[in-house]
Amino acid sequence: MDSQSKRYIVTGGAGFIGSHLVERLLADGARVVAIDDLSTGSLDNLTAGAANPRLEIRASKVTECQDLKALVEGATAVFHLAAAVGVEMAVNQPRRTIETNLDETEAVLRAAAGARIPVLLTSSSEVYGKSQKDVFDEGDDLLIGPPHLARWSYACSKLMDEFLALSYAREFGLPVVITRLFNTVGPRQSGSYGMVLPRFIAAAREGRPLEVYGDGEQTRCFCLVNDTVEALVRLERSEAARGEVFNIGGSEEVTIRQLAETVIRLLGSSSQLSLIPYADAYAPGFEDMRRRRPAVEKLQGVTGFRPATSLAEIIRRTAGMLPA
Ligand code: UDP
Repeated sequence: MDSQSKRYIVTGGAGFIGSHLVERLLADGARVVAIDDLSTGSLDNLTAGAANPRLEIRASKVTECQDLKALVEGATAVFHLAAAVGVEMAVNQPRRTIETNLDETEAVLRAAAGARIPVLLTSSSEVYGKSQKDVFDEGDDLLIGPPHLARWSYACSKLMDEFLALSYAREFGLPVVITRLFNTVGPRQSGSYGMVLPRFIAAAREGRPLEVYGDGEQTRCFCLVNDTVEALVRLERSEAARGEVFNIGGSEEVTIRQLAETVIRLLGSSSQLSLIPYADAYAPGFEDMRRRRPAVEKLQGVTGFRPATSLAEIIRRTAGMLPA
């Protein structure tokens, strides 16, 4: 099937990652239906594609979307990105997090099951929990904290989504691909839900202190959203990906302190760092991860692709110093 005759559904299509995916699919010539309740997503994110006659926007929760089954059954595949955003929301609104993550996924899988429409699910590196491993591998055991710490409701609900999707694959032959997204950054990401890079860039621009939580020695691997989207698109096309779980993330590990210093340097900012104790930064119920690095060999093996944009380029693009 050529790109022109493809028709994709992107749930969460007005969100940060979803909107980049929608743009990419439109650029490939496909038709796209973006379903988004605009709770954390925004139509502003879809400005670039808004006038494109191949884009249809449904401003609705997945669970309340008119004719969801008919819509899904007419699609080439569903990219399911709609979810509660970020760990901060999980801490502050665990019920909303759990219900959103479970109900919306179940609705997508049910709608897709009868006609076996491929579903690509976006899970999260959060599911690895407090594992101390240097590199997280898709087959690893998972170490999630106890339920009185609300943060873990996010990981647990995403993990249930994975179990549910794989059970649809087994019982109904539904073609599902599960992706675990690691720290994804880029233009249009909001700092409102706790994400570190947009916050650091905004503070550096305004000459305010960059607030580094804890001792700043915790590490992350950042992945440019364009690379994440490339991986998602390739996995959707790959027969070998069906029924499998894939990490998607960068491999360049940096401490959060280094991230802050790099942002200040690249933006030529006069800002300083300010270390904020975790207890002041987060509501009770928070535990941070010390390290988080994905194994991406499985992704590379199946798609021939691994995210490789350097941290400096990621920061420049996110700050709008280079074209997105
Ligand atoms: N962080 C920080 N300052 C901020 C926001 C986050 O130091 O203003 C830290 C946070 O504690 C974590 C890391 O940056 O160690 C990445 O946080 P983010 O929320 O972006 O993603 P996470 O890895 O927690 O999902």
